[in-house]
Amino acid sequence: MKSKKTESSTSWLYSPSPESTAHISLRESYDLYINGKWEKPISGKYFDSINPANEKHLAKIAHADQADIDKAVKAARKAYDTAWSKLSGSERAKYIYRIARIMQERARELAVIESLDGGKPIRESRDIDIPLACNHFFYYAGWADKLEYAFPTRKVEALGVAGQIIPWNFPLLMAAWKIAPALATGNTVVLKPAETTSLTALKLAEIIHDAGLPPGVVNIVTGFGDTGAAIVNHPDINKIAFTGSTNVGKIIQKAIAGTSKKATLELGGKSANIIFDDAPIDQAVEGIVNGIFFNQGHVCCAGSRLYVQESVAEKVIQKLKDRIQTLYVGDPLDKNTDIGAINSKEQLQTIDKYIKIGIKEGAEIYQPACNLPKKGFYCPPTLFTNVAQSNLIVQEEIFGPVLTVQTFRTVDEVIQKANNTPFGLAAGVWTDKGSRIFNLTTKLRAGVVWANTYNKFDPSSPFGGYKESGFGREGGVHGLSAYVKLS
Ligand code: ADP
Repeated sequence: MKSKKTESSTSWLYSPSPESTAHISLRESYDLYINGKWEKPISGKYFDSINPANEKHLAKIAHADQADIDKAVKAARKAYDTAWSKLSGSERAKYIYRIARIMQERARELAVIESLDGGKPIRESRDIDIPLACNHFFYYAGWADKLEYAFPTRKVEALGVAGQIIPWNFPLLMAAWKIAPALATGNTVVLKPAETTSLTALKLAEIIHDAGLPPGVVNIVTGFGDTGAAIVNHPDINKIAFTGSTNVGKIIQKAIAGTSKKATLELGGKSANIIFDDAPIDQAVEGIVNGIFFNQGHVCCAGSRLYVQESVAEKVIQKLKDRIQTLYVGDPLDKNTDIGAINSKEQLQTIDKYIKIGIKEGAEIYQPACNLPKKGFYCPPTLFTNVAQSNLIVQEEIFGPVLTVQTFRTVDEVIQKANNTPFGLAAGVWTDKGSRIFNLTTKLRAGVVWANTYNKFDPSSPFGGYKESGFGREGGVHGLSAYVKLS
């Protein structure tokens, strides 16, 4: 296999270093994990999961409908009433620790499957997604018997059955973000992964099974939007936790309006990365690249709008272009790869549509010359300069490796521009001045503001948005409150 390269990087091309798939075992087809057993979908319907890097078939996945969801919710309710709510916090913690430890033991397998199924570079799934997912279970296992300290003087009760729906950009990590706090607080779960990335959630079902959780405490059901809607609309669900697009978030909010269901919604983003003239420029350029290009821009908090102070704009843009030329686009399983495959054909079409819009809007495009693989879904890193705040490529979420660059002169101007978006998930600030950082963190309307770094996550740190980026927080003590009733 030949490593993917950009023209300018041919002189120092790395040898290919593909991760082995020899230790991976995938079934030909996956059923639904309901009540501690693998159940065939009542309709008998399955769909294909493919590898977006080469369009090869990976496995058949069950498509759950309303009747299957009803079975899963009944199992979760029974498990809640008869088993999980009867356990002490320290007993629940033992199960959650066990899940975390088995995940760690199987980390390599999970990382490879994540890259095969989702297209993200193995370096990302191996070093970021899977360790963070394990840490999330470890972190919340620690809270399970300490809820009275998380909420002093309050009576803490679980909500009951949580319906959880997750997207394709961080499949296992999002499953961990949803399941770990729900279990720690005593809830039972029906979780649906995204249709293009079901495999690591199904592997997690195997792990949960091996950890010996009582049947029905965690149920993993697969399918499309109709399956998600069946969870949202099921009358015996107490809580909906959703991560995905703002459009579906709005549908969910309408669907549960007037019911007693609680909800947390983590939706889209169009996050600003702001570079001041006193910033460590090389470090900032690396942070920008990490914030938008690694992981194909498939991060809801991706720093997709860059604001550079005018006096250093020329320098920063040149350094960015130089750095982008050295990025490897290609086989997600190659350890050298920086930008893997776009998750699906549909997503690639969306990104291409926005790139065309950007060109039509008069923006200047820069893409390094890349030898993209013939099969699979790939997009080179793309930089747009000469853009205006009103351009669609600045306003709308693209969810791909596309960065818009604008300049600013004053702090007030950049705050106004950064906040001029329907979203409010994250932002980055690069400067040498601590006072400037604190000034901006209070004024930027974003759930997370990173200073002199980007895309850093920790289970103890809450994450969530403002405005159309959703509401509710995941992670940290805040993440517990989304799953409890306090009195
Ligand atoms: P993305 O644009 O990130 O794919 P989506 O919002 O389309 O985000 O999908 C996120 C998750 O929501 C997926 O698991 C998807 O199957 C599910 N989903 C899609 N439509 C609906 C719906 N109407 N109700 C509930 N879940 C849905």
